Amino acid sequence: MSKLLDMLAIGAHPDDVEIGMGGSIVKYANKGFKIGICDLTKAELSSNGTVSVRQEEAKRAGEILGVTKRIQLTLPDRGLYLTDSAIQSIVTIIRENQPKIIFVPYFEDRHPDHGHCARLVEEAVFSAGIRKYKDTLDLPSHRVQSIYYYMINGFHKPDFVIDISNTIDKKLTSLRAYESQFEKSLGSMETPLTNGYIESVESRERLYGKEVGVMYAEGFKTKNPILLSEDLLGERQ
Ligand SMILES: [Zn+2]
Repeated sequence: MSKLLDMLAIGAHPDDVEIGMGGSIVKYANKGFKIGICDLTKAELSSNGTVSVRQEEAKRAGEILGVTKRIQLTLPDRGLYLTDSAIQSIVTIIRENQPKIIFVPYFEDRHPDHGHCARLVEEAVFSAGIRKYKDTLDLPSHRVQSIYYYMINGFHKPDFVIDISNTIDKKLTSLRAYESQFEKSLGSMETPLTNGYIESVESRERLYGKEVGVMYAEGFKTKNPILLSEDLLGERQ
């Protein structure tokens, strides 16, 4: 069986992907698609939790979502800049896994690393398709069909939404796996994440759902128009 990925969701920190699109990942994993998550940093500057605790939490969260693999890069937290070596390491991941679609954080977000992550990956997607561009393993080029943007802290009008009414529970369970981030505990720092953050994500997805008449949905942005996979009216009877 092929080990290649259908979809690769990339985040700056472990938990970004879960917040933005955990429900969509479960939905497509349940359909049998191969989905990977790639975290660019280990979030070593987090206010709460150690790197090793957070790695354990990310592993558990990925299992809950049903991802085929979780890839951990070691770019520096708060240091996601457009450098040749950072782009090269992401190109290697793209060429190794050959995803059709890549998801990255939407760049309008309180945390600057999320926007930097998107820009770095956009550069890497472009370079991955150039035959003569050398990555760290000298792999053949790969063209990604589309890049879509998921939302982490922001609440923006989405360009499209995915119905996650049947998978919201798993999404929330995957977020609760990040106990060090979202739970108040003895000695933990108060952060925007420890004060009802999971509930606010749930409310946001409820509102995105309401916009299209379903219980829950995740919202996405896109720079390019989307070709509908079905005609608007189907076939005339
Ligand atoms: Zn983050």
